Amino acid sequence: MEYSDATKELLNGAGASIGDHISVTTRGAVQRGMVMPRHMFTGPDILVLKLSSGYNIGLRIGEGTTLVLIEEAKKEERPSSTPPGTGLPPVAFLSTGGTIASYVDYRTGAVHPAVEAQDLLFTVPELSDLCEVRSTVLSSILSEDMDVALWQELANAIVLEFEKGARGVIVPHGTDTLGYTAAALSYMLTSLPGPVVLVGSQRSSDRPSSDATMNLLAATRVALAPIGEVVVVMHDSSSDDRCAIHRGSRVRKMHTSRRDAFQSINTLPLGYVEGKEVTILEKVRGLEKRAAADTRMEPNVVLVHAYPGITPARFSGMTSGAKGVVIAGTGLGHISSDIVPVISKLVAGGVRVVMTSQCLWGSTNLNVYSTGRELLQAGVEPCGDMLPETALVELMCRLARQPGKRGTDAGHRRERHE
Ligand code: ASP
Repeated sequence: MEYSDATKELLNGAGASIGDHISVTTRGAVQRGMVMPRHMFTGPDILVLKLSSGYNIGLRIGEGTTLVLIEEAKKEERPSSTPPGTGLPPVAFLSTGGTIASYVDYRTGAVHPAVEAQDLLFTVPELSDLCEVRSTVLSSILSEDMDVALWQELANAIVLEFEKGARGVIVPHGTDTLGYTAAALSYMLTSLPGPVVLVGSQRSSDRPSSDATMNLLAATRVALAPIGEVVVVMHDSSSDDRCAIHRGSRVRKMHTSRRDAFQSINTLPLGYVEGKEVTILEKVRGLEKRAAADTRMEPNVVLVHAYPGITPARFSGMTSGAKGVVIAGTGLGHISSDIVPVISKLVAGGVRVVMTSQCLWGSTNLNVYSTGRELLQAGVEPCGDMLPETALVELMCRLARQPGKRGTDAGHRRERHE
């Protein structure tokens, strides 16, 4: 994409081009940074500068804008659409979409999904100092549109990237359902020769407050670490001090907008990334020789949130036709005792009903209150301290793999996901 003639004239007049360090004065304010290529979602008269902080800003070029060349780019510093990194360990970026793969059109303020993974790399050229970047766009969706078919496609694509020699795989993903996808991949990827790192950002990479650059760089460092697991790497605090590494089946988005929205629930983060340092503090799975996936999933599983006033008719409607039901119960794992007979019927008909807690912190215990005991008798399977979304994908996998087997797969869970 080209800048407007007026913007090109201003750059040419100063003898500056893409990759050079310049200073721009517009409406009395001075900004210094590296000239970035124009992105398809930014207006032709918006000059994109990468600041020394790593963030990109867009400056509207108009009457009275002046521009001074500070320093020409060294050849290897010029952003290129084919980032080098050759000779470094290969890392595959399988982009799914979301804010981390979006750009703001500075004219309208609208956020658009990026269509090429290369768009993502334009904004973080430092990635190619760490690895050989192999980028593919699997989808350009906002993560609320994620579904089982795309999880399966993603798991197969990850296996393929490892077969082609990737040291690690990074999955840029929208933050809304990133935890679900991390849990789904944790169950589908049965053997990993390197890390699978999901990463997102709460603010898009064109905004000065974006967390995209730091999250992506930290994710890349983790992708090169000896971890044979699916993990999530995101800001650990609202400032830019460190990123946390969360186990894929144990992490949840706990805030709508804060940069440190992601937290490990009922466990500690596996480790942290501070600057260039990756520190692993918990026991992690080692590397296997080859990647393998079992992508079978029964999509006909529902997740029901228990609430005061839920009626047997409403519950029956919500669970009608389902092969599995996950209840996010109240407290230790309860739902109105009126629902117990409906659950008994479902279980008698071969439907698996499992119980998690909407408290999130702590474990289910169906032995304390009478309702819990009745639910146990009705055949409800308690899920311990598993997140409801993790229980959902675990049940989807379990039903597809062992349709007849009852009982939660606690051993599998403990060994692989705790
Ligand atoms: N709704 C967006 C999504 O999940 C938010 C984000 O990307 O963080 O795709």
